[in-house]
Amino acid sequence: MSAVHDALIVGGGLVGSCLALALHRAGLSAVLIDSQPPQLAAAGAAWDSRVYAISPGNAGFLESLGVWPRLDRQRLQCVESMVIRGDRPAGRLSFSAYDAGLRELAHIVESGALQQALCDAIAETGRLPVVCPAQTAALRVDGDCAQLQLGDGSLLHARLVVGTDGGNSWVRQAAGLEARVTDYRQTGVVANFETGGNHRGAAYQWFRDDGVLALLPLPGKRVSMVWSTAGDHAQELLALPAEALAARVTEASAGVLGALRLITPAAGFPLRLAHVPKLVAPRVALAGDAAHNVHPLAGQGVNLGFRDVRELVKVLSARAPGQDCGDRQLLRRYERARREDIAAMELGTDGLQKLFAARPVWVSGARNSGMAAVDRLPFLKNLLIRHAAA
Ligand SMILES: Cc1cc2nc3c(=O)[nH]c(=O)nc-3n(C[C@H](O)[C@H](O)[C@H](O)COP(=O)(O)OP(=O)(O)OC[C@H]3O[C@@H](n4cnc5c(N)ncnc54)[C@H](O)[C@@H]3O)c2cc1C
Repeated sequence: MSAVHDALIVGGGLVGSCLALALHRAGLSAVLIDSQPPQLAAAGAAWDSRVYAISPGNAGFLESLGVWPRLDRQRLQCVESMVIRGDRPAGRLSFSAYDAGLRELAHIVESGALQQALCDAIAETGRLPVVCPAQTAALRVDGDCAQLQLGDGSLLHARLVVGTDGGNSWVRQAAGLEARVTDYRQTGVVANFETGGNHRGAAYQWFRDDGVLALLPLPGKRVSMVWSTAGDHAQELLALPAEALAARVTEASAGVLGALRLITPAAGFPLRLAHVPKLVAPRVALAGDAAHNVHPLAGQGVNLGFRDVRELVKVLSARAPGQDCGDRQLLRRYERARREDIAAMELGTDGLQKLFAARPVWVSGARNSGMAAVDRLPFLKNLLIRHAAA
């Protein structure tokens, strides 16, 4: 039998790469496996149309792993405030980092740049094996060991296999873990724009009849858009010529940032909710989108995944002498610790999505006055901010 590692991590996206690095730094032997090469930053100055709002807590974690300092400061943007608008004038909610006693609400970072920083940090260790590209063929759990067979017939052994292989997780299926999926029948349309006015570090979000439009600040006079909208409307937006799309978004955002100019082609991502009741099986754990898929309206998907990583590393690092990484009690501890955060985010994002998708006039009135009421409650606002900032 080949060497028995502490952990095999299947899926080398942001969450899997981060987990592999964090386990390695914690002194565990990990192997990272992915079916395709990582999606890295494109060469040159072009802005990535996939960006993430990373919470201060997760940025601090990435800093502790030596990943954050690898990011180009000139391409990072702090979010200092957030303005959310309902579909009536009364519906307005605003958050400010200053009021909550924080330096920032989030950091906007490009997806490819973060993946690049993680890959470089992994490569620099010189002792963290990455098997890529590799097809996963079979997973077998036998007493005190899990065995992963790859498409070329080779076998890998470990005490624990972690599925970080995204929303359609192969590991989840191979381990017989259920996912309850609700298709939102929406697409997240993403694109970057140059703005006429200054955003001053503010993120904007509009809950509109035709979906949720968000403009996240990028360095300089630039913003990144996520417009979560019904499939047919998304197709219409994606098919628009550059000027027409910019005009449409300028109009939908009530011109708060002046006239917009498209600087990256628009792209669409299907949106769904996936609730995974059990995150662990014998010698298997799930993390990242393999463990939960939430609507992007709160910008929390990858943040939840990084918090999974933090918890799993904490639990495995605190194991008793002689206790192996796949120990049932450890995995149960991880699952229990993650339940509340994941449930809050699934319920919160799904609830908001449904509330603003509802048509009746009384619902519209109630949700807008609800927003205004929350806006007048600094205590509740600070509580919401502190949860999202973790
Ligand atoms: C429009 C949009 C906007 C978003 N904005 C935000 C935001 O602002 N903030 C935020 O926190 N989140 C955001 N999210 C959510 C975020 O994109 C996801 O939560 C995150 O990308 C999940 O990362 P992951 O590593 O878990 O999974 P993935 O990125 O899906 O990575 C999975 C990896 O597994 C590999 N893989 C798959 N199958 C196999 C297999 N069988 N064997 C080996 N490898 C395999 C894949 O090649 C891939 O590398 C957004 C999502 C959308 C759609």
